[in-house]
Amino acid sequence: MPIKPVTGMTPLPLDSPDDVAALVELLQRPDSDTRGLGDHLAFLAGTRPELFRPYQEAVITGMLDRFDVSFADQCLLLGGAPDQCVEHLTQRLRSDRSFGDAWALAAIGTAAALTAVAEDVRNGGDREEYELSGIWVPATGPAQYRFSPQRRAVWLQPINEPGKLAAVDHPVGLPVEEVAQNPSATPISWHYLSLRHADVPGLPPWPANRVHLVGTRATCMWTLHAGIDDYGRYRSAAVTFDQPPAAEEEETYRSLEVPGFGLASVELRPYDADLVYCNGHIQLTPGVVGTAGGPPIGLYANPSCPSCGRLMFHVVSVENRIREYGDGWRSLFICEDCHTVSCNATGWN
Ligand SMILES: [Zn+2]
Repeated sequence: MPIKPVTGMTPLPLDSPDDVAALVELLQRPDSDTRGLGDHLAFLAGTRPELFRPYQEAVITGMLDRFDVSFADQCLLLGGAPDQCVEHLTQRLRSDRSFGDAWALAAIGTAAALTAVAEDVRNGGDREEYELSGIWVPATGPAQYRFSPQRRAVWLQPINEPGKLAAVDHPVGLPVEEVAQNPSATPISWHYLSLRHADVPGLPPWPANRVHLVGTRATCMWTLHAGIDDYGRYRSAAVTFDQPPAAEEEETYRSLEVPGFGLASVELRPYDADLVYCNGHIQLTPGVVGTAGGPPIGLYANPSCPSCGRLMFHVVSVENRIREYGDGWRSLFICEDCHTVSCNATGWN
């Protein structure tokens, strides 16, 4: 069973419209196991979100406090909800503000909803909380998603023969000189993953075939910005740390930099019933190390473009175990206007 409720609740069948009706009925009960039901809703978001459409309004207007669902899943379950839902949430934001309402409003994602989000921020709503979910409010006009709601699970497949790395679409473990200009002077010390831009649905246009997720010599809590050269390699990379790593920490990572360590390829597969849905994510699925597309993970401030200041577009987030180095999550972002990239690293939570 792909649903593994974090509370230990016995998974319910979720194959038909009647099953979804029964699930929503359970959600309505005041004593419902909201986290256990949340894992069912995550499965529904990953497999057949259209079955939830008839319940969007009932949930938004009457059950939002029990709707224990990640923002990424909300985008699929609440996306396109009718304008009366936008009205309802806008009223609530004015009278009895909670960030759950703001999230749901952003997740609706229609022109009306994104206009309402922008108005909320311009009326004093918390811009940073929206930005944490990948939503940008420009100086004028509606809010913008800086991510594609379409997601792909990132499946890791180790490669035992180094010669094979060059032939794969999405390699893990390239030499730094293949992804960074001026390798002797760059703060880039590790390659986690390259993705073919065309294989991540919904990314904005990009001048190179691939985008790279790279790292620096520190455990976590850093952001790396770079431009790209004509080959898509990163140039003029610069890192900011929440707290600069000690010399010993840097040395530890330097000692791990063994060429040929942790070579692999990744496959990007749609969310489906082959994944394990537990605790609002899919990370307990054996072989899955992260998600391409979807909103950023929301644990660490998302980068703004160093050139234009716009919130950058989320490409992928993976756990460090994709290629052991550092600790926690690694994410990649791009600014399609300025051709800048950003990689960042946060701890587990
Ligand atoms: Zn920019």
